[in-house]
Amino acid sequence: MNLLLIGPPNAGKGTQAKKLIDHFQMPHVSTGDLLRDNIARKTELGILAKSYVDSGGLVPDELVIDLVDQALSQYDLQKGVLFDGYPRNIAQAENLDALMAKHDARLDTVILMQADDEVLINRATGRRVCSGCGATYHVTGRPPKISGFCDICHEPLIHRRDDKEDVISHRIDVYKQQTRPLVEYYSKTGRLLKVRGEGSAEEVFEKIMSLLGNKE
Ligand code: AMP
Repeated sequence: MNLLLIGPPNAGKGTQAKKLIDHFQMPHVSTGDLLRDNIARKTELGILAKSYVDSGGLVPDELVIDLVDQALSQYDLQKGVLFDGYPRNIAQAENLDALMAKHDARLDTVILMQADDEVLINRATGRRVCSGCGATYHVTGRPPKISGFCDICHEPLIHRRDDKEDVISHRIDVYKQQTRPLVEYYSKTGRLLKVRGEGSAEEVFEKIMSLLGNKE
């Protein structure tokens, strides 16, 4: 089973992706993670991609498509992969369908995670990330014991540039303009399941599992 999670930034795709890959024991292809890794390692691709990621815009298709081609060469598409954050526009979706067909595979199910804009903005503006171990907190929802410092490794917490209000609002607009057309693209072929990304991570996961169960 090849799965795709789509939805606006902060709808909870990353959290549900972790749960799904644990449950189905499938590899996870997240272009956001791959890009952040390249940026941190200052690879040629990372240097080219950084300004787009920092501003909340989409990285040009040719860079991202290359990255996905490379990542997929490590996996067996017959056994299933979870895509998260890719494709993000129609050109990428068409490229993925063609790539899948080349491997005699197909994208079976697309899970659309939805949440209201205020929820998405609140999650981002309140999120703090540990500069040491990467643990995440929320200033009101899950505050650290000592304000500004990680409970686990005691390093300072940071507010990621792409979580600042101006950037998150821009990312939501980019989603609406470029990624939301995929909802129609996938629903036309009967591959789309919709879930509200609100409530606890466990509740959302249960909703996804029951939708997947009902589909079989
Ligand atoms: P994410 O962690 O999936 O929200 O991605 C973080 C950022 O990486 C996005 O705001 C984009 O700048 C970039 N990005 C991730 N995936 C893609 C993609 N499929 N196409 C273009 N840019 C992407």
